[in-house]
Amino acid sequence: MTDAISAAAAILTVDLRAIVHNWQLLSARAAPARCGAVVKADAYGLGAEEVVRALLSAGCREFFVALVDEGVRLRGALAGAWPPDARVHVLHGPTPGSEAECAARGLVPVLNCLEQVERWRAQARRAGHPLPAAIQVDTGMARLGLPPVTFQELLSRHGALDGVLPTLVMSHLASAEDQADPTNQLQLARFQALRALLPAASGCFANSSGIFLGRPYHFDLVRPGAALYGIAPVAGQPNPMRPVVRVQARLIQWRNVSAGDPVGYNHTWRASRLSRIATVSVGYADGYLRSASDRAQLRLNGVGLPVVGRVSMDTVTVDATDVPDCLLVSGALVDVIDEVQDVNALAVQAGTNAYEILTSLGTRYRRQYIQEQ
Ligand SMILES: *Cc1c(COP(=O)(O)O)cnc(C)c1O
Repeated sequence: MTDAISAAAAILTVDLRAIVHNWQLLSARAAPARCGAVVKADAYGLGAEEVVRALLSAGCREFFVALVDEGVRLRGALAGAWPPDARVHVLHGPTPGSEAECAARGLVPVLNCLEQVERWRAQARRAGHPLPAAIQVDTGMARLGLPPVTFQELLSRHGALDGVLPTLVMSHLASAEDQADPTNQLQLARFQALRALLPAASGCFANSSGIFLGRPYHFDLVRPGAALYGIAPVAGQPNPMRPVVRVQARLIQWRNVSAGDPVGYNHTWRASRLSRIATVSVGYADGYLRSASDRAQLRLNGVGLPVVGRVSMDTVTVDATDVPDCLLVSGALVDVIDEVQDVNALAVQAGTNAYEILTSLGTRYRRQYIQEQ
């Protein structure tokens, strides 16, 4: 460990080898479809620049961000290392006024409505040449994309896509992690019909969970995010993905409390016996969600430390009564997210999904990246 890490109050370790392994596993499952990577929200909080660098070395060439700003930052950070055949798609499309920057940075917008199509065509007229763009259709989520009838009308209008070089026809699944949900097949049938109307573009439908729905969902390009980062893609089944994230935080102090003594804000927990309460340097400002209060566990050398009382902004209190004295050392590293309680398990404890756990992690950790030497 570097000196900076050895003194850090809390450490976030991102295993880039595991991300590459997960991408290769998803690629193999999706083949012969190509496999891209969704790196929006700073690669789900883990560091888009580092993640994209690692995936570019592994051969990934199609990336997806949500915002133009995210794409600009990414292309800027990797300017010297950007392969000419790699692309960044912008899922939200351009905001009004950002078209020129989007085009200048070589970003490929996802056009979600007629108005975005018009603005991108206007940009192409100003540029004097056609510009690549993906087109998204809404097959049943009512979030982003052209409604099916609007898409059909657009394609039937002569010259309505002049100036646009369609790269992908896209849609997004609403419930892909639930394999029994009939919505999946309904959306698939709609997408098959709509995608056939624009055969020049590649079909792009499956997120992480969609890859596990089987071959008909793969089309030409799949676009996983969550599973790359270790999130379980199929509800109720063992997780085939390798864990990516480890969070550790320092033990600050500990004390004995008597039976009946309260702990933390609003005294939501009281000791039922003589107890030893330890305070650890991680809190909801670090994405250790307040909803994990009185529910989740930390670990010290493998010994479970139940969270007792409310999670605070910067600290969490745990019941360390059963921890051997010799392990209670000031500054000892306590496991917060590890292979025992991974992001998926912590999400269950905190009453949310693992996506929210990852994207909440925050900026206060010392970060270290494990990569192939
Ligand atoms: C976030 C997102 C994805 C990635 O989904 P995961 O469930 O993280 O694999 C794919 N497509 C769209 C449109 C998205 O918004």
